[in-house]
Amino acid sequence: MKTIGVLTSGGDAPGMNAAIRAVVRSGCENGFRVMGIRRGWNGLMYGDMYEMNLRSVSNIINRGGTILYSARSPEFKTEDGMKKAIEVCKEHNMEGVVVIGGDGSFRGARDLSLRGVPCVGIPGTIDNDIACCDYTIGYDTAMNTAMEMVDRLRDTTESHDRCSVVEVMGRRAGYIALNAGIACGATTILIPEVDFDFERDVIDRMKKTQKTGKRHFIIIVAEGVGGVAEMAKKIEAEMGVESRATVLGHVQRGGSPTVRDRVVASQMGYKAVELLKQGIGNRVVAMQKDEIVDFDIFEALNMKKSIDLDLYKMAHEISI
Ligand code: ADP
Repeated sequence: MKTIGVLTSGGDAPGMNAAIRAVVRSGCENGFRVMGIRRGWNGLMYGDMYEMNLRSVSNIINRGGTILYSARSPEFKTEDGMKKAIEVCKEHNMEGVVVIGGDGSFRGARDLSLRGVPCVGIPGTIDNDIACCDYTIGYDTAMNTAMEMVDRLRDTTESHDRCSVVEVMGRRAGYIALNAGIACGATTILIPEVDFDFERDVIDRMKKTQKTGKRHFIIIVAEGVGGVAEMAKKIEAEMGVESRATVLGHVQRGGSPTVRDRVVASQMGYKAVELLKQGIGNRVVAMQKDEIVDFDIFEALNMKKSIDLDLYKMAHEISI
């Protein structure tokens, strides 16, 4: 019987479990022995894995996190680490590995594919920062969590005529900030992709809306921009509006996945097994224009993606 493995690597994201479930179920249905590899590349290097069956993935589609656990594994980047992983693959007759994670994890998958173990990547990251994909697993849940949290902040911000400066996740990408910002009616949204001027983009915009009667303000700042505590202090000093900084942090990484994350994760897991069934490796499964497609990993890692600047412009035009 052919054996394949599945692992989750890098930052976790809601919906990873739904992807694992799809890989295990379609793998078993296609006659594969499916090994669940624990803690990302670490588990592959040290043989920390177990055989999964149709029932090993029962009751996980609705759960955040990952039942296989995730880890960052610097050792895997070394030639020695790679050798260990290849040895373990040989030992288990592993003919393919499905890797659910981000760009870093895909680099590992590329390196392993190059050395003869076909790997297929599935994009799992709340940041939506994978160039070949319009959409990554966990993104929808994270945006909705951010929106819900900011809605709660808005209630108290409004009651006290305050300003809330909120940091949402997104170190290199402003997708969560932009969309949660629009959904929450933020006065200003600051993202790493767009340069900003504090006086012009924060203070002047607040003053403009204040003149038309606005008394409470929400400023959404992506993690990659940072500095929310200092911004709150400056706003209070310059505007005389009591201001609070809130960092939403890892709360955005957890929780039960949304319908969209569960469905896309299921589609992607299914597609990954289809590829391995045909003996095709070194691919990344992606979503483009609502279609599930796949790319060569080298090609995928070299792609560029840009945020929708028209959407960014619109967000500010209707937030006055
Ligand atoms: P993500 O997959 O979410 O982008 P990381 O960037 O932390 O997360 O990558 C996850 C893991 O993938 C790393 O800990 C490492 O084991 C592996 N990895 C990252 N970059 C490379 C690389 N250039 N070559 C080989 N493996 C890599």
